[in-house]
Amino acid sequence: MSTLVIRSQRVLTEGELRPASIAVQDGVIAAIGGFEEFGSGGDHHDFGEAVVMPGLVDTHVHINEPGRADWEGFETATRAAAAGGLTTLIEMPLNSIPATTSVESFRAKMAAAEGQLAVDVGFWGGVVPGNTPELRGLHEAGVFGFKCFLVPSGVPEFEAVGEPELREALPVLSALGAVLLVHSELPGPIETAAVEVAGDDPKRYSTWLKSRPRAAENEAIALLIRLSREFDARVHVVHLSSSDALPDLRRARAEGTKITVETCPHYLRFAAEEIREGATEFKCAPPIRERENRELLWQALLAGSIDLLASDHSPCPPDMKCARTGDFMRAWGGIASLELSLPVMWTEARQRGAGIAEIARWLCQGPAKLAGVKGKGAIAVGCAADMVVWHPDAQFRVDAATLYHRHKLTPYAGRELHGVVKATFLRGQKIYDRGDFPAPAVGRVLRRGQA
Ligand SMILES: [Zn+2]
Repeated sequence: MSTLVIRSQRVLTEGELRPASIAVQDGVIAAIGGFEEFGSGGDHHDFGEAVVMPGLVDTHVHINEPGRADWEGFETATRAAAAGGLTTLIEMPLNSIPATTSVESFRAKMAAAEGQLAVDVGFWGGVVPGNTPELRGLHEAGVFGFKCFLVPSGVPEFEAVGEPELREALPVLSALGAVLLVHSELPGPIETAAVEVAGDDPKRYSTWLKSRPRAAENEAIALLIRLSREFDARVHVVHLSSSDALPDLRRARAEGTKITVETCPHYLRFAAEEIREGATEFKCAPPIRERENRELLWQALLAGSIDLLASDHSPCPPDMKCARTGDFMRAWGGIASLELSLPVMWTEARQRGAGIAEIARWLCQGPAKLAGVKGKGAIAVGCAADMVVWHPDAQFRVDAATLYHRHKLTPYAGRELHGVVKATFLRGQKIYDRGDFPAPAVGRVLRRGQA
């Protein structure tokens, strides 16, 4: 049996950076020892001072294939992932056609992914009006959990649910032990705001911001806390933007409610005050809010009140972003950023006193735990040898044209970031090496429960 050895002066294992050697057999971490422990012969990589960390896990990615592969596709998205140090993605059930709301459509998605993956990809199923009878089948077929919207999703195949549908689905999901991810905005406050902004300039970011008030998020989260408690169900708030909801979330979690929460790098990096007129590459829902809101999200993240970070990578063709007209109200809501989560978060975190162990908790362990992906998100004996090798002190300027996802429009274009990915390993195979993809398409379709 051939053994691969990866070593560096800074391996992140058991929550700390230390000199270590990692011995890999058949794609699995077989042993972790001192820097000199496994000799230097054979298939041996010495990464010196570079950080060796678990491959990132991103549980909120829209790949849109089959059906809307012109927006993004498995090949481009997973290459971008490999280049960004990600080794596992859990893909959202909507924007593909069909949406992943039945066992049949789940099979169609797995078939579309097969043979195209540079990293591992698993799938969330969807909860939409009328598909409660499909939920058990989807769970058994291997989706990692479910996603629903409380407001229109932006695509007609994936309809929003309300409290009655949640009351139907949650007992089923609770019995299965499956988590429900929720786009947490309620329509009421958004409808009220729509009247208020009707005459405002659609090119101004403040118009978009006002049209998606914090109340929509706060009220949705209050409802989800009540329902999670009532049905003893696992509920996960995706892409939290409103810091006003944090006290309720903290209280519910302290009381043992099974509610978890993520936020995204763009809410932690950008602020509404800085978004130029017509800069629709910043549009997402819920919106990027004020600087003061961002600081409260940071405090919650650093205090452990936010479980994980996910990119919510959701690109579309440039025309749909209304780049020419700069119309925030008509532009597609979604930020393209998959490849940049690590450097964006590291650039911000290092200025706020957080370390690489926190980065791994937010971008590796936290997401792996949410989805229950086995053997991912840690450098530990028995885990998959999924690793990113990167230089935390190196800097680069984001050249959008060189990003690997399909459409290059991104709010990170031109930004100076810290943290350069040197190599990515998936199950011990080097899948990315400074601009090269030495082992293309070795990613697998993951199903819940598989090792
Ligand atoms: Zn999303």
